[in-house]
Amino acid sequence: KSKNNGAGQYRFFTSDMNDEVSKKLMLESGLRKGMISEEFLLYYQPQVDVLTGEVKGYEALVRWEHPELGMVPPAEFIPLAEETGLIVPLGRWILQEACRQMAAWKEEGSTVTRMSVNISTLQFQQPDFLKMVTEILETTGLPPEYLELELTESIVQDLEHSVPLMKSIRAKGIRISLDDFGTGYSSLSYLKDFPINTLKIDKTFMDSIEDGQREEAIVESIIHMAQRLGFNVIAEGIEKCSQLRLLSEKACQEYQGYYFSPPLPAEAIRVYKGQKDEERTS
Ligand code: C2E
Ligand code: MG
Ligand code: MG
Ligand code: MG
Repeated sequence: KSKNNGAGQYRFFTSDMNDEVSKKLMLESGLRKGMISEEFLLYYQPQVDVLTGEVKGYEALVRWEHPELGMVPPAEFIPLAEETGLIVPLGRWILQEACRQMAAWKEEGSTVTRMSVNISTLQFQQPDFLKMVTEILETTGLPPEYLELELTESIVQDLEHSVPLMKSIRAKGIRISLDDFGTGYSSLSYLKDFPINTLKIDKTFMDSIEDGQREEAIVESIIHMAQRLGFNVIAEGIEKCSQLRLLSEKACQEYQGYYFSPPLPAEAIRVYKGQKDEERTS
């Protein structure tokens, strides 16, 4: 009896595992093929001024239109691309495409002056990382001040490597933001050493901002601290008007979130040429 059960469980377990493993293998081999057959594309999410509703920047977010699986979210393939090293060529393509698009919008007369691009750990560790970025800026003609690299706390953990590299990036005029702030392990004391322009408060804080006075106090403190350190502050994942109202009370500069707009394909991005938000919706 126990043998049957055991076998049954074992079969069940392996079939689950096989699903997992085969999906992983499918994604892994698909990544390489996907790059060649141009299955990747970028979506752009506006970063908006809390007070005026003006679009200040865009965050480029990669999407994978898999021929069989449909849209695969980045949370599923970015870690795989990291493991396999494919994030290096993929990340270069993402940067190239985001800079090309921003330069094109600038040509069209867009008043938006910032394109934020997520950088992964392995990419940041490449010895020629900064050279790669500056070459892309040169070939696309995008001014360095228009580019903001989004780094997470985990990427910059190794201070001996990251702080000098961040300084070299800044010396070229390229901007840096610290993404998902508050979810990593880095100590607050590191913040004073980071030559960053922007601090992005993670969505988890925004999800709980209306839960109580403590949650609200934490967000307020992060905003004030960041501003005292001279950083631009962006709140991530704003979905409701009430959250936005709280942010404006706390004098947070910018936000990103479904409340204003989800990430959109380039064709759906309206190029702002000095119009205000009110005119945008009319
Ligand atoms: P992230 O950099 O923190 O990006 C913000 C994520 O929050 C995006 O998810 C965005 O679609 C989502 N988001 C924005 N506003 C809202 C909101 O109001 N509500 C909710 N529920 N979500 C919102 P996405 O595009 O799925 O990307 C997830 C993560 O994958 C990113 O987090 C980033 O870590 C990574 N990623 C995305 N694109 C790239 C890329 O081009 N390169 C690298 N290295 N990583 C990327
Ligand atoms: Mg980001
Ligand atoms: Mg983030
Ligand atoms: Mg995040």
